[in-house]
Amino acid sequence: MPHDQLDSFIHALMWKAAPVIILCGIGAMLLRESFNWLERRLTRAIRNHRARITTAKGIANQSSSQAGDPPHCPTCNGAMVIRKARRGQNQGSRFWGCPNFPRCNGTRSFTV
Ligand SMILES: [Zn+2]
Repeated sequence: MPHDQLDSFIHALMWKAAPVIILCGIGAMLLRESFNWLERRLTRAIRNHRARITTAKGIANQSSSQAGDPPHCPTCNGAMVIRKARRGQNQGSRFWGCPNFPRCNGTRSFTV
């Protein structure tokens, strides 16, 4: 093979190979960039999601502590309800009564 022919062959090969190599490089760069972008998006989304969950939990805890948990019946352990005494010496005053009344007569004194 004469030197000129080899030279032109290499030249032609370079001209064909160069765009492919450059395109591959650009493609890899774009791919890496898009992966980085995706990673950032996911990280942010997960962080937002976690923040939202903790906020929701905080609000739920606040509302439940504000409402105050009712005491439990000393007899049947049911969550008690506020009732008003209809007769007796404590008539008109409020107390904690058992929700299972009249089957259960458990009461607790109601303090504000
Ligand atoms: Zn009870």
